[in-house]
Amino acid sequence: MSIPMSDRSRIVDGDTMRPEDSDADGESSLDPSPNVRRERDDFPARVRRLLAGQAGHLCANPACQRPTTGPSRDAGRVVDLGVAAHITAASVLGPRFDSSLTSEQRKHENNGIWLCQDCGKLVDSDNSTHSVELLQEWKERAIARAERALAKGDVDPDGVRRLAREERYHTAKLALTAALQARALILRGVEVARHVRNIRRVRQSERAGLLSEAAKWYADTAASIEATEVAIRSVRVLWPEEPQVGLVGLHVRLATWRNWFSENVAIVTGAKGAHARQSNESWSWDDVFNGDESSVERMNGQVTEDLDNVEAWARPYIHGSP
Ligand SMILES: [Zn+2]
Repeated sequence: MSIPMSDRSRIVDGDTMRPEDSDADGESSLDPSPNVRRERDDFPARVRRLLAGQAGHLCANPACQRPTTGPSRDAGRVVDLGVAAHITAASVLGPRFDSSLTSEQRKHENNGIWLCQDCGKLVDSDNSTHSVELLQEWKERAIARAERALAKGDVDPDGVRRLAREERYHTAKLALTAALQARALILRGVEVARHVRNIRRVRQSERAGLLSEAAKWYADTAASIEATEVAIRSVRVLWPEEPQVGLVGLHVRLATWRNWFSENVAIVTGAKGAHARQSNESWSWDDVFNGDESSVERMNGQVTEDLDNVEAWARPYIHGSP
């Protein structure tokens, strides 16, 4: 039931959906034994419409539930991203083929499930996980869900999508807040560095204030490093595929900056230790500490880029607030 590329984003006339479905039962064009091929038992257009309607035009995979139809930019047309997938294959080489079924049974609505194109591809590529029983369960649950949606007049009758949206919203917000805070602390560290550098030049009476500012910065960085760690972990749970480059960058930079202070500035930590590891950036914390303007500028640019990345990623989730 793999989907030919030409079919990946099919546009059909508003009133006529394709008569047969797009699947080819995962058969390869390099099939070594073409003689084994039999007729395909494709679903008639009526069955395809029925499966789509019974599922409320949403993908039946409970973890997906993606809408499969909507307006096209071409007037008078709709986009149809759904697949009437065979629970047991339409032809002998396809996934989950059941030789005990008749041709009529194979193209009967009982043998079909409504999925989006991605899930259609998934269930046929991984047919040991996606058994006949599992697909039948998905189908039953999808139909029951569509029934509840109608009865309640709510497209999300169980609140599952709302919950997922809220979770994404809060996690994206957590990540953005952590990123903003980390960036602010990195930049404040530059100010703290300036004060520490000039400490001998200020009046005795002002020194205590500057030292406590430095100590507070040092304490705040610990909390912020922890906050970015928590955010990175939470983001990974919800978006395992998405590398959080900006957030990780800010986390690492703040941690290295703090580390640099703890190893080089006795005033902040009480004891001066060995030199901090040199980063492989185009600037060094030594230069930033010493107020080298071009280093501060390059560091600033990178930190801002990190924050921009986090913002660009988080904005869509935060924008559609729950
Ligand atoms: Zn899907």
